[in-house]
Amino acid sequence: MKKLGFGFMRMPLLDENDQTKVDVAQVERMADLFFERGFTYCDTAWMYHDFMSEEVVGKAVVDRYPREAFTIATKMPDMMLTSEADVERIYEKQKEKLHVDYFDYYLIHDMNSENYEKAKKYGAIDFCRQKRAEGEIRCLGFSCHDTPEFLDRVLTENPFFEFVQLQINYLDWESAGIQARGCYEVCVKHGKQVIVMEPVKGGTLANPPEIVKQRLREAHPDWSPARWAISFAASLPQVMVVLSGMSTYAQLEENTGFMEDFTPLSEEEMKLLLACAEMIRQTIEIPCTGCRYCVEANECPMGILIPNYFALYNTKKLMKREDFSPEKEYYGNYLGQGYGAASSCIGCQGCEAVCPQHIAITEWLSKVAEELE
Ligand code: SF4
Ligand code: SF4
Repeated sequence: MKKLGFGFMRMPLLDENDQTKVDVAQVERMADLFFERGFTYCDTAWMYHDFMSEEVVGKAVVDRYPREAFTIATKMPDMMLTSEADVERIYEKQKEKLHVDYFDYYLIHDMNSENYEKAKKYGAIDFCRQKRAEGEIRCLGFSCHDTPEFLDRVLTENPFFEFVQLQINYLDWESAGIQARGCYEVCVKHGKQVIVMEPVKGGTLANPPEIVKQRLREAHPDWSPARWAISFAASLPQVMVVLSGMSTYAQLEENTGFMEDFTPLSEEEMKLLLACAEMIRQTIEIPCTGCRYCVEANECPMGILIPNYFALYNTKKLMKREDFSPEKEYYGNYLGQGYGAASSCIGCQGCEAVCPQHIAITEWLSKVAEELE
């Protein structure tokens, strides 16, 4: 399978203020070029585009192409479940909306400690396993924005999952908050294929600081920053497909152009991107180096995960989109695991006493709370 997937979560709109008013004719044109160039993977979900995405994929893809010409991935919205009956109701409705009688890829959506308990409580995981055994689901996995430790736990307790969808991009690779490398390595350890979401970080890496653009231009004058970002994720050997939420025909044309005969980046090119990530980090607000002295050489009485929260705050501040913030979700997942909230800081300053960067941690924590809570 070619390593680029069409993410149907940011489709072109006829009315910018209404996510349900999708420009279906334009989506059809985009799908035509996508398939013409030999790509197959289509990713949607129950709640994308205010619950319209699956219907649009049904019309623009399923009704217009033979079933074997594409693969469909959709997701069980475990966070919305309120009863066991919801699981089958939603699953059947998804088949109806998408006009399919089987799913090539089916995921438990956004597994974190809270959603995991819900999925187990309402039988969503067992239900999907049953459908997998019956052949209605061809490949079963889950998406996750949580920590490597949580991911390891889920894969250890449920070794039947066949793949994991993770947020991976060159900026988050070494991020203390998102820990993309750590999560990827857990998948490698468990022998699971990885599907990448947010390779361009919601568009942020399509327009990095000028100094980064310049370094990238020096290496490949004709490559866009978005091409570099997608290529980083696609070059990881365990990655099966990289999703791109393409909103315009031009984006799709560019991405399918360079991914048609994709050659992984060289070691040098990968290193250049990680150096660029460092440059981006230097332009950001809290000058935290992630040394972890404040949590390892000091015991915070409130269990506040200072460097992780600072990393999330910094990358959230870089985001150029107000409507998109996975950082809030990662933050919520830390709280869900029992770590203290930034707002619970009692100002004892034990952390500040050991910080080699002399960061006014307590002041920044109140800004973190404002931004992420
Ligand atoms: S000042 Fe706040 S964050 Fe630092 S150790 Fe004390 S309670 Fe924890
Ligand atoms: S000690 Fe300072 S620089 Fe190191 S992780 Fe904590 S806040 Fe960041």
